[in-house]
Amino acid sequence: MADKSAYVADQLGQIVTSVLKKMAADKSKVSSSTISNYLNNSEEFRKLVHTAMTGGDKSDVLKYVNPLRGFVPDHNLKAVEEMVFSPDKTHDETMSALLKSLSDHLLSLEKKQHKFSSFIDDVFSKFVNLQAELTSSLGHNIEFVEKDLAMDKKLLNEAQDMHRILRSEDSIEYLKSKMLDSFSSFVNTFDQKTVTKKDHLGTIAKEYSSVNQELEQYKSQVSQLQNDLEKYKNESVQDHLTGLFNRKYLDMKLSEEIDRFKRMGTPFSVVMADIDKFKSINDTYGHQIGDQVLKHMSQIIKETIRKTDFAFRYGGEEFVIILINADVRNATLISDQIRKKLEATNFSLKDGSFCVTSSFGVAQFRPEDTAESVIMAADSRLYTAKQSGRNRVVNQ
Ligand code: GH3
Ligand code: MG
Ligand code: MG
Repeated sequence: MADKSAYVADQLGQIVTSVLKKMAADKSKVSSSTISNYLNNSEEFRKLVHTAMTGGDKSDVLKYVNPLRGFVPDHNLKAVEEMVFSPDKTHDETMSALLKSLSDHLLSLEKKQHKFSSFIDDVFSKFVNLQAELTSSLGHNIEFVEKDLAMDKKLLNEAQDMHRILRSEDSIEYLKSKMLDSFSSFVNTFDQKTVTKKDHLGTIAKEYSSVNQELEQYKSQVSQLQNDLEKYKNESVQDHLTGLFNRKYLDMKLSEEIDRFKRMGTPFSVVMADIDKFKSINDTYGHQIGDQVLKHMSQIIKETIRKTDFAFRYGGEEFVIILINADVRNATLISDQIRKKLEATNFSLKDGSFCVTSSFGVAQFRPEDTAESVIMAADSRLYTAKQSGRNRVVNQ
């Protein structure tokens, strides 16, 4: 990776120099947009971008698929696996599909993907522009340019590192913390770059303010992103007692499923479940036994639903399940299986045993529904189940 970065940085230096010479010969004005036009027209530059962004064996994509299970929706991972085995799909297409699934997921999970990916794009275009501006204004000062080129090489390496991390790390939590490290080192290098530039530009006032402004802007963008990532790092999607997803994640997941329903019309249902007379279990056997019942109920839910479904702890002894590709009939059958399994469980104590039941409200998502209305429908059916005697599933 380091060799490749060094190669890319060297090539980039040469390309930028030759583009500037050409611009001088054409008497073209030097600005970000004219440089960008010349670069886009340069065959060498396009080749370099291709070299920098591609490479690798398609089967290596599979390595990255497994660790993403549970984070990225299964059907997206399945689509990537199919691409690996399809002769029509290239490594890059497959890798892009995997990265896209991951970034789509980050988008919905953290609602920041736009910021994130446009930042990475920005990094590359800003390097090229800054490098070109400095090279053109400071061409006679070899020492400074060399120093600055070395720093740009470092920045390119760091940006490449971010790409590597995005491609290779196996857990989102780990990925987040790695990205934070990379950003810190990024900011440091930028600081050094600004200091070096200030020293030098002290004698050349001409371009100082615009370049410096750009760097300052860029730095504040980086630190804002750093703060955001710091915040997400501490956020969790899991309920600690049961290992199910927590209620906060339900909001995100439900809006994702609603979007999918709107795009593709895939049916899904929402189930709300509640343990019957749970307060009396706590009162009779103690809070710890109550917790055991909650864990057991969660285990039954996990075992009964499909891998593509999602289960959440909604409140104390309330659970919400999103059943993908399930109409109200299917969702009722699955809920009834869970109900029967809990009812059949004998919770044994030192001196005896006890049984627990649960009640369910089932609602299929309809086109006119919102996240709130489908939850409300499931909740009001759960209420009916409780009112009509508990230990049952109500779906209308
Ligand atoms: P119903 O059949 O109408 O649902 O009656 P219920 O007793 O189950 O309902 P209620 O809402 O009155 O009681 C819920 C109880 O759940 C009260 C609360 O102390 C208990 N609870 C909430 N969170 C936890 C927890 O994390 N662990 C334990 N052990 N108990 C909890
Ligand atoms: Mg209850
Ligand atoms: Mg309750």
